[in-house]
Amino acid sequence: MNAPAPPQLCHRIDDLPLSNSFGALPPAFHTRLMPTPLPAPYLVCASVSAAQLINLDPAEFATAHFVETFSGNRLLPDSQPLAAVYSGHQFGVWAGQLGDGRAILLGEVPSREGAAPGTLELQLKGSGQTPYSRMGDGRAVLRSSIREFLCSEAMAALGIPTSRALCVTGSDQRVMRETPETTAVATRMAPTFVRFGSFEHWFYNDKKSELKVLADYVIDRCYPQLRDADNPYLALLSEVTRRTAHLIAQWQAVGFMHGVMNTDNMSILGQTLDYGPFGFMEAFDAQHICNHTDQQGRYAYSMQPQIAHWNCYALGQAILPLIGEVEEAQAALQIYQPEYAAKLDELLHAKLGLNSKQPDDAQLFDAMFAIMQNSHADFTSFFRRLGDLTIDGSVETDQPLRDLFIDRAAFDAWAVQYRARLRQENSQDSRRRLAMHQVNPKYVLRNYLAQTAIEKAQNKDFSEIGKLLGILEKPFDEQPEHASYADLPPDWASHLEVSCSS
Ligand code: AMP
Ligand code: MG
Repeated sequence: MNAPAPPQLCHRIDDLPLSNSFGALPPAFHTRLMPTPLPAPYLVCASVSAAQLINLDPAEFATAHFVETFSGNRLLPDSQPLAAVYSGHQFGVWAGQLGDGRAILLGEVPSREGAAPGTLELQLKGSGQTPYSRMGDGRAVLRSSIREFLCSEAMAALGIPTSRALCVTGSDQRVMRETPETTAVATRMAPTFVRFGSFEHWFYNDKKSELKVLADYVIDRCYPQLRDADNPYLALLSEVTRRTAHLIAQWQAVGFMHGVMNTDNMSILGQTLDYGPFGFMEAFDAQHICNHTDQQGRYAYSMQPQIAHWNCYALGQAILPLIGEVEEAQAALQIYQPEYAAKLDELLHAKLGLNSKQPDDAQLFDAMFAIMQNSHADFTSFFRRLGDLTIDGSVETDQPLRDLFIDRAAFDAWAVQYRARLRQENSQDSRRRLAMHQVNPKYVLRNYLAQTAIEKAQNKDFSEIGKLLGILEKPFDEQPEHASYADLPPDWASHLEVSCSS
C-alpha cells in the first residue's frame, strides 16, 4: 500500500521554489530578458484553484508582492526570465519565425498534479516587447486577458486539457488596437509551452541537432514513458497525434471553437493553448466561424478535426529527420482519424446518456445534428435539457427542448427515435438524467457573459469576473441562483465580434 502523501505546505509568493529547465537549453532556444514593467498595476482577477495547483496560498493575492510579481515589475528569487523562439504555419501558410513576442517565461514550480513533469511553468503574457515581437507592442489588452483567464479556468472545470490562468493584472496604460484599450498581463501555467511550431522552427532552419535537443527535452520531461521506446521520436509523434485527436473530440463535444489553430498555437502536450478569438457554439451551425479575421473559415467548427490532423502532419514533417522512415511517420499520423472518431463516439454516447453501442447510433447522432443545424438550436441548452427528457414524456414535458427548435415537428420525430433507443437499453430516467448532467454543462463561457464582465472591468469593477469564474468552475451544477447565466444570448450579443486583435 502506498503511504499517504505528506501534507502540502502553502507557499508565500517569495517561497515558490522556482527553477527553469527550458532556460537550461542552449542559448539558441531563447532570449533572456526582463519583463517590461507595467505602470501602476492592480489586480484584476485571480484563480484560487490555479494557485492551489502550485501550492501558492491564495491569501497572497491581496499582497503588493503578488501584483508586482505578476505584472512583471518585480522578479521572484531565482527567476531567470526568457522569451522562447518558435515558428509556425499561420492560416495554412508558412510564416517563418514567430516566438514569444509578448510572453515571458518566469520559470517552473512544483505542481500538485501528479502527471509528468510534475511542474508548471509560469508565464507572463503581455509583459512587453521581446526580440520576437516583430511589429507588435508586446502588450495584451484587458479584454483579451480576461477572456483568456476565464476560458482557461472554464475549460479546466469542463475536464478539457488546457493551460491554466493564475491571474490578470491591469494598468491604465493604453495601447492601440481597433480603438485605444488599456493593457493587462495574464499569468499562464502549463507543464510546457512548447508548440508544434517549436519543432518546425528547427526543421525549417535545417538544424537537426537542435531539433533533437528539443525532442529529447520534451520526451525527458513530459513523456518519460516514451524514452525507452524503439523509436522515441516516432512514439512522440504517435502520442501527440493521439492526444490531439482526443482534445479536438472534446472541443467538438462541448462546442468549443479555438479560432486560430495555427501550428504555433498547438501545444505539444495536446492541451488547449493560446486563447484568442475563441467561442462556444450557441445557435448551432456546423460552419460557424468564431474568428472575424478568419474570412475563409479555415478554422470553422466543422473544420477543426481535419485542421488539427493537418497540424499533426506539420509536426510529423518537422520531426521526420529524427524518426527516419516516412512510412512509419505516416502510420503514426494515420491513427488520428480512428482515435478522433472513437473518442467523439464515446463522448456522444455519454452526452445522450447511452450506455451501450448500437449499429444505428451514428445515424441517430447525424439526425440530431441535422435538426440542430436546421433550427440553429442552442448547443449547450440542447444537450443540457435533453437530460431532462423522460422516456414516457410527451410534447408537453418536452416543451423546454422543443422551444429550442423552429421546426418542432423535426424535433418530435427525432425524439421518437431517441426514446426508442433509450427503451432498447432499458434506460432509467433518473439515473440517465444524473449521468447526462455530469457531462453536458449548464454553464459555458458565452461571448455575452465574457463581454459583460469585460465592460464592467473596463470601468474598474472587477466583481463580475469573480462571479462568472465561480459559476464556470462548477459548470455541471444546477446553481439555480445563477440560472440566468445559462440563458440564451440577448439580442445585443448578436453584434459581438471577436478577432485576432488582442
Ligand atoms: P497569436 O496569434 O496571438 O498566437 O500570436 C502570433 C504571434 O504574434 C506570436 O509570435 C505572438 O507572440 C505575436 N504577437 C501577437 N500579439 C503581439 C503583440 N501585441 N506584440 C508582440 N507580439 C505579438
Ligand atoms: Mg499564439
